Amino acid sequence: MEYSESVVRGGFTEQVICSRCGSKHHSIKGVIKYGFFFLESIPFFPIKKTAVIECTQCHQLADNTQLSAEQLKSINKATFKFYHFISKFTGVYLMLALMGYFYIANIQKDVESQHYVEAPKVNDFYFIDFRKMAKNLRPNQKYIIAKVVDITGDTVSIVYGSVFYVFQRSLESSIRKSRAVTSNYFARKRNEFNFEQIKKLYSSGAILRAMRPVDNKLFDSFVISSPAKTRRGNTYYPGAIENTSGQAFLAMTYLDKYEQQAFDKFKLAAKYGYAQGQINLAELYLTGRFGDNDGFEKALYWLQQAALQSDKKAIDKYLIICNKASDCDVDAFYKVLTDEGVNYRFDR
Ligand SMILES: [Zn+2]
Repeated sequence: MEYSESVVRGGFTEQVICSRCGSKHHSIKGVIKYGFFFLESIPFFPIKKTAVIECTQCHQLADNTQLSAEQLKSINKATFKFYHFISKFTGVYLMLALMGYFYIANIQKDVESQHYVEAPKVNDFYFIDFRKMAKNLRPNQKYIIAKVVDITGDTVSIVYGSVFYVFQRSLESSIRKSRAVTSNYFARKRNEFNFEQIKKLYSSGAILRAMRPVDNKLFDSFVISSPAKTRRGNTYYPGAIENTSGQAFLAMTYLDKYEQQAFDKFKLAAKYGYAQGQINLAELYLTGRFGDNDGFEKALYWLQQAALQSDKKAIDKYLIICNKASDCDVDAFYKVLTDEGVNYRFDR
């Protein structure tokens, strides 16, 4: 801490006699000593106030001990006003405001993260402290970025970034520098968690922060490469329109029966053989809110229908839920695909 002084103009007094010229007429100025850090113009707090009494004739400073304690007190009272001191706390106010700002910004991050981990969505990003998820890591293997690539039923599939960071702050700057979008940033291996496990990863501090891109962007950088625009021209795809309107209904959460309306549309799209419609229908069956206790079987049926059209996403989703059910035969599924001539690759 360093110190400086500021001066306030006071009044006049005739209570002392100048030792040099004998004049009684004296001016008063108040001197406030204050402490500051780095910047003299930003005082942190006042330290001392002194009334300086000066002869108006010869500028000799008077000896304050000539005054009684009572007189000194009334001079101080007349000279120093409370507002002279308000500005001497500027640094403290600024510091509190800054702390408040960071505090609120952090709370906001926490609230958002909490919200996102409770209802994960495809393309959510996680900052991860990998030391809390894996053992036997090398000393500089600390932080990674992860991305949700699929949600099937309550299974969340995540891919990890292949780059480890030593510092937590590098996670954000890596995204700001748009490194996360390059197609080979994320490893191919998918790691599956259920909703409950995702929440636990957050409460245990393994997931440090969860983020959801807006307009494909995080921190003003593109994190999702926009899907390649295929020119479909006027080709008619049966079920495509029904699927699109189903997706629209699914987004209209303010409607009473938005999910039922979406379901009806997806069902049509699925019947017309539109693969994405079949996947969307299966997703709704997996919620358990449709079908008479046979939602699971129906989900598998429609995922298989989409898989038979060589839909990679449908094959992945089928395997995720099939691997969890005791009465689902993965080999039989592969055999059906092979028999129908579907070209799939084992990369899991
Ligand atoms: Zn004098």
